[in-house]
Parts: sequence; C-alpha cells; structure tokens
Amino acid sequence: MEDTYRHKGLRQKLIKAIRRKGITDENVLSAMEAVPRHFFLDSAFAHLAYKDQAVGIGGGQTISQPYTVAFQTQLLEIKKRMRVLEIGTGSGYQAAILGTMGARVFTVERIEELYLKTKKILESGDFGNIRCYFRDGTKGLKEFAPYDRIIVTAGAGEVPEALLEQLKIGGMMVIPVGVETQVMKRIIKKSENEYAEEDWGGFRFVPFLKGKERGGRGDA
Ligand code: SAH
Repeated sequence: MEDTYRHKGLRQKLIKAIRRKGITDENVLSAMEAVPRHFFLDSAFAHLAYKDQAVGIGGGQTISQPYTVAFQTQLLEIKKRMRVLEIGTGSGYQAAILGTMGARVFTVERIEELYLKTKKILESGDFGNIRCYFRDGTKGLKEFAPYDRIIVTAGAGEVPEALLEQLKIGGMMVIPVGVETQVMKRIIKKSENEYAEEDWGGFRFVPFLKGKERGGRGDA
C-alpha cells in the first residue's frame, strides 16, 4: 500500500481536528501524523481512514475512533522503552501508535483471524518494537510481566485481576469500564495492593470477551 501526499494532507487535517478536541501531548500527535491509518483498514473502507470515526474491521470489531486512540494514549503518558501491554490488537493501529512513540509493545487478540492478519503488518518492523499474541486478554500476558503501562481497547464489565497483578508498582492502566457504555478509568498502582483510580469520561467500545475464537467457533 502507498502513503501519498494526499494521505499525508488528510492526516494533517485530522491531527488539527484532534488537537481542537483537546489533545495536547505532542508525542501522541506526531505519532498519529506519522502512522498511515489507511494501512490498517480494508481497502473498501480506506476512504474513511482520515475521518474522526470508528470503522468496521470484520468479525464485528472496529478500529477505534482516532480521537479515542489519542485520548487513551495521552492518558498513558508514554516514555521511550516503556513496556506496554495492549489488550485488543484489532486492526493494529493503536499498537502502531505506541510502537512509533518508542514503547516496547506486547499486544494480544482473542480472534485468531484478526491476530493473523494484523501480526503481518505490526511485525514488519515499520512501527517499532511490537509483538503480537493470540490470547484471551482477561488473563493478560504473564510471561513478559510486569508492565509499565497496560491499555485495554474493549469495554470491560470489570477490571480483570490478572491485569492489576501484571502492572508494575508505579505503573498505570487505562481501561474503559462498563457493559453498554463505558467510563474511561486510569488506574495507578501505588503498592502491591493499593490502587488510585481516576474517571475520564464516557466512551463506547466493542465488548471485552472471555476466551478465544477460531474460525468463528468459541474456544474458551
Ligand atoms: N486497538 C484496536 C481496537 C480494536 S476493537 C485497534 O486499534 O484497532 C477491540 C478488540 O479487542 C477486538 O479486536 C476484540 O476482538 C478484542 N478483544 C475483546 N476481548 C478480548 C480479550 N479478552 N482478549 C483479547 N482481545 C480482546
């Protein structure tokens, strides 16, 4: 796929719009200006890549709205070489933003088809240091824990215990919590069993589900 001057121009306009909506972290904005979002969509939907909206990516899943990606990433306060766990790889766009910002990214997806498709683009090396896993994210990714940051990109009824455990002391997790609609929570791990919790407003995500899926069949 190509990244043309036209795409770059559309991206600059999108970044301006996101800035106007209140995103101020320059590292987030420049990563979003650098990463071609149309690479992460099926070609039939590529014309929607630079609108500030969520888009279907198959299997009932979506690539999050650019503003939501910017908002969650800004809350994470990413610094270079941080170890970041993402739950919900989906299209891979969010992981590509984190990788471009210099984080070491571990991302997990529960739908095999999406995992296989997205792994190709993320593990090309074009978006930094990213590794993809086909897992049930409710269990986290224990073998590489603890993480400086954890980001969940699906709406969870409750915060999975495993994710709290796999967070470093002093680390932060950003997770939308709620069933129909979600409240964006930022959870800061103060000590082995003390957490501070902040609310950052309402959002709407696809559901955070238990178990894995292969070829449409459940495999919990
Ligand atoms: N970060 C993605 C957003 C994709 S939508 C992007 O930038 O495109 C959320 C994704 O979370 C979906 O692909 C969905 O299959 C996945 N998901 C939901 N529950 C999960 C779980 N328990 N473990 C791993 N992935 C999960």
